[in-house]
Amino acid sequence: MATQKEDFKCPNCKKKNRIKIKSEVTSAEIDKIIDRSLFKVKCLACGETITVDYPIKISGDNYVIYYTPCSSDEIEDEYHEYMRVCDTFDDFKEKLLIMKDSLNDIIIELIKDYLIIELDEEIKKDIKDIRYDGQNEEHLIFYLIGAEKSAGCSKQIYANLLKKCKLKKIKKCVNVDHQTYEKYLKKRFWK
Ligand SMILES: [Zn+2]
Repeated sequence: MATQKEDFKCPNCKKKNRIKIKSEVTSAEIDKIIDRSLFKVKCLACGETITVDYPIKISGDNYVIYYTPCSSDEIEDEYHEYMRVCDTFDDFKEKLLIMKDSLNDIIIELIKDYLIIELDEEIKKDIKDIRYDGQNEEHLIFYLIGAEKSAGCSKQIYANLLKKCKLKKIKKCVNVDHQTYEKYLKKRFWK
C-alpha cells in the first residue's frame, strides 16, 4: 500500500513532526476515513493526538475517490463506474457513505432537491445544507444542517429515480455535489 512522508507542525507544542501517511487505501479502510481515525496522529514531542488533513485516494470495486483538501486539480485515473474528487472532508465523508451503501451520488443529490421541495416552509428557512447520512430498512436518511433534523426518503423513490434518470457517462474524476450534479443528468428535472 502506498505511503508517503508528510511534515506537520503540532498545534499544541509547535514542534515539527514527520509522519508516514497512507496516500492510497482500499474500501477496507472506509470506516477509518468516515470516523476520521485514519487522519489522527500522535505528536512525537508532546504526545498530543492531532487530526491532520492530507490528500488521499480510496478505491473500491466500482469507484475511485480522491480527497484533495489543498488543491482542486482534476486527476486522471483508470476507469471506474464512479470517479470523483472531493475537496472538503464533509463532501468526502458523504461520498464514502454513499459508496458504502452502493448508491448513486447523482441520484442522491437529486433527492435532496426533492426533499427540500417537500419540507415545511418553517424548516426550509433554517436549512443551510443537506447531507446523506445513512439508511434504515425502508428509507434513505438525510441530515438537515441548520434545522438540526433528519428527513427520510423512501428507497422506492430512489429506485424509481435511478430507473427513470438518464445519466451522462463520466470518464474522469469530477466533483459531484449539490451545485454541480445537474451537469451529469441528461435532462433537467425540477428547474
Ligand atoms: Zn506536540
